[in-house]
Amino acid sequence: MLSEHCGTIAKTIIHLQLMYCRALKRGLLLGSILALSCQPIAQSQALRQKVHAANADINNFWIQKFRSFNREWRTPRAFEYTSRAQTPCGMAQRFNALYCGLNHSIYLNIPLLVHVSQRLGDFAAITILAHEYGHAAQRQLGLSRLHQYLVQEELQADCFAGAYARDASRRGLLRPQDAQHGYLQSYASGHLRFHAQTHGTRDQRARAYYLGYSRGFASCLAYSRLQ
Ligand SMILES: [Zn+2]
Repeated sequence: MLSEHCGTIAKTIIHLQLMYCRALKRGLLLGSILALSCQPIAQSQALRQKVHAANADINNFWIQKFRSFNREWRTPRAFEYTSRAQTPCGMAQRFNALYCGLNHSIYLNIPLLVHVSQRLGDFAAITILAHEYGHAAQRQLGLSRLHQYLVQEELQADCFAGAYARDASRRGLLRPQDAQHGYLQSYASGHLRFHAQTHGTRDQRARAYYLGYSRGFASCLAYSRLQ
């Protein structure tokens, strides 16, 4: 009886996962089962371990960067959530990631990371985290206040994510395709039409990431002067 019961539960879970994956592909979201991923749990755990390792590495990248201009980096706190999370900056929504300057914290939605890594590779998910670290860096450098348009701030965060990828690549941490996955993720996150108060178009986001990847941190500062 017990094994039959477990079999039924397993079938139900698989059915829900399939529904969830189909809804995801159609752009529909089913609130009650958002915590489920389209990957076996073991794979999503492996991704989370990679993201945790990347979290420490990106933080270390910024410690070194700040040290190079005699400033002290304040490590942001990083949280992961499966559905929604209340933050001092408002509700962190499903399929989103954000940096909240009010408590200097990064919030990452696990189903988003799983979905992105499944579509574009694990480093694409890490690129989302690196983008949020870019916002944490902007705030500490006083760059957030210099931007007239939101799009400048967002593209600069993409550029900083590229600058991290460049550094990680130089340290031999990336496979050849990883930086490309970061580039594709930046492209995929862009809007179809330009508006100065959004994250930028696909081309703009991909170009910003590539600028950071090919020319490093200093090249990203140009976004603070485009007014
Ligand atoms: Zn952003």
